[in-house]
Amino acid sequence: MSLDLWVGLGVLVGLFMVEGALPYDQTRDRRAVHGVRNLGLAIASGVVGAALAPLLLGAMSFGSAQGWGLCPRLDLGGLGGALISFVLFDLWMYGWHRANHRIPFLWRFHRVHHTDPAMDCTTALRFHPGEILLSGLANLPVIVALGMSLQTFVLYKAVMVAVILFHHSNLAVPARIDRGLRRLIVSPSMHRVHHSEIRAETDSNYGTIFSFWDRLFGSLRVREDTQAIRFGIGRFAGDAWQRPLRLLTIPFLAEWPPGPPTGTRAAPVPANRP
Ligand SMILES: [Zn+2]
Ligand SMILES: [Zn+2]
Repeated sequence: MSLDLWVGLGVLVGLFMVEGALPYDQTRDRRAVHGVRNLGLAIASGVVGAALAPLLLGAMSFGSAQGWGLCPRLDLGGLGGALISFVLFDLWMYGWHRANHRIPFLWRFHRVHHTDPAMDCTTALRFHPGEILLSGLANLPVIVALGMSLQTFVLYKAVMVAVILFHHSNLAVPARIDRGLRRLIVSPSMHRVHHSEIRAETDSNYGTIFSFWDRLFGSLRVREDTQAIRFGIGRFAGDAWQRPLRLLTIPFLAEWPPGPPTGTRAAPVPANRP
């Protein structure tokens, strides 16, 4: 297993235990059932991700043999190249996530992640295999264009998995600490807004690791009353929709173009603040 898998497994188990002792939403029940269902989808996505690995390695070694990519061209050295490609790859992830909300075909797959009516660290695993396939293929030219090394990519994935498990978690992070963290990384309060059933809130806070992309591109949306947020997509809120086999069908439902995630109830949206 590579570093990102070990980090992911360790952080997942640790957070799941701490969420039980220090929950943000204290009304949560059936955590194990919820977790197992999200894990079911994660296994299907993991198989697709593993199948793409040879393609990724092949693209990386081909690009490297040709001397392609920004980092080799700029001759930044090992550390400089790793830093630049790490940050720029996170910018790409921001743009890709935003595209998943804007482009109806991509939203069909990405909305599966947004159907979770209860957020915790296992929500970070809830991605449709189709989304993993599309993002894995889309990542290839970006990695080659950046000249990103395998070590930097694995490091990025390890940091990414720790941050996304954390910002999906149902952990009672004190507001002051959350405010401090979100100056640099996507915090739980930021990502809870992204999982709101209100479309204007869903279409905000697209960051994966760093929060400054949302600040820079005007998509940051902050609420202090995150306890009042209803998560999910109304029409997929029923318990039957939470089963992995049903979740797998969501992108293929005869609905084109997809409507908004039913977040149409009138609710005041507080002004954005850093
Ligand atoms: Zn999203
Ligand atoms: Zn999420």
